[in-house]
Amino acid sequence: MIDDLPPLREVIATHDLRAKKALGQNFLLDLNLTARIARAAGDLRGADVLEVGPGPGGLTRGLLAEGARRVLAVEKDPRCLPALAQIAEAYPGRLQVIGGDALAVDVTAHLTPPIKIVSNLPYNVGTELLIRWLTPAQWPPFWDTLTLMFQREVADRIVARPGSKAYGRLSLMVQWRAEARVVLHLPPEAFTPPPKVSSAVVHITRRATPLYPADQATLTRVIAAGFNQRRKMLRASLKGVAPDIEGHLTAVGIAPTARAEEIGLEAFCALARSVKDAGQGAA
Ligand code: SAM
Repeated sequence: MIDDLPPLREVIATHDLRAKKALGQNFLLDLNLTARIARAAGDLRGADVLEVGPGPGGLTRGLLAEGARRVLAVEKDPRCLPALAQIAEAYPGRLQVIGGDALAVDVTAHLTPPIKIVSNLPYNVGTELLIRWLTPAQWPPFWDTLTLMFQREVADRIVARPGSKAYGRLSLMVQWRAEARVVLHLPPEAFTPPPKVSSAVVHITRRATPLYPADQATLTRVIAAGFNQRRKMLRASLKGVAPDIEGHLTAVGIAPTARAEEIGLEAFCALARSVKDAGQGAA
C-alpha cells in the first residue's frame, strides 16, 4: 500500500469507470507496478511531473508517493475527475488536474522546471504526443525526460538501430535529439482490460543539442522520403528531394544504391546539411 486511499478496483467500482475503448482506456491497477514505473522516471523529488491520461489515478498515486514535487494531470474523461479529486485531497497542494484533451491544452504555463513527463499514454494519441514533444519550435524543449508506456512495437521502433526491421523515421527523430531505452516490458494481463498487444515503458532523456547538426525541416524531409519507399535505393527514393541527389549522396559517403534502413543518423544529418548548403533544403 503506497497511501491511505482505497484500492483501485474499489475506486473503479465506486465511480463506475468502465473502460472505454475509444479513449484507449487500459488501466493499471497494481500499485506496486505503478510505483515501479514512477521510479523508472528517476528521482522525482524537486521535479514537476506532467501526466497525460491519469484515468483512475494508479500512476498518479505512484508519482506522488515517489516524491514528485507537483503533478499536473490532463484527463479527457470527465468520469475520472472525482477519483482524481480524492487523490488531490490526500496530497494537498501537489496534484493539479485539468479536464480536457492533452492535444489541445497548453500545459507549459502550469509547470516549473525541471519537468518530467510520465504517462501510461492512450495508444491512439501516444505517437502524436511524442512527436510534438520532440519537435518544438525551440530546442531544448520544456521537458527534461519522458517516461512513457507504448505498445511494444512502437517502443521497438523508438530504440531501433540501423539494419533492423523496426528502424525508421521514429527511431531517427527520437535518437537525434534524445537518448532512449526500454526500461520495462509489460504483458497484456498487466492492464484492465488487457489490450491485444504487449507494452513497454521507454525512458527518453533529451540531449542539450541534437547529436549531429542539421536543419530539422530538411532532415525530416530526407528521412521521410527515404523511408516512404524503404525497399528502394536512395538514389530513387530521394529523387524528389534535390535535383542532383546522387551527387549529394556520393559527397557525404553514402552509396546511391544503399537503402534508407542501412543508413545511420550521422550520415542522414550529413546528407541533410549537403542538401541545405546547396540551397535545396526544405522551406
Ligand atoms: N494512467 C492510467 C493508468 O495507468 O491506469 C490510465 C491509462 S489509459 C491507457 C489512458 C488514459 O488517457 C485514459 O484515462 C483516457 O481517458 C485518457 N485519454 C485518452 N485520450 C486522451 C486525451 N486526448 N487527452 C487526455 N487524456 C486522454
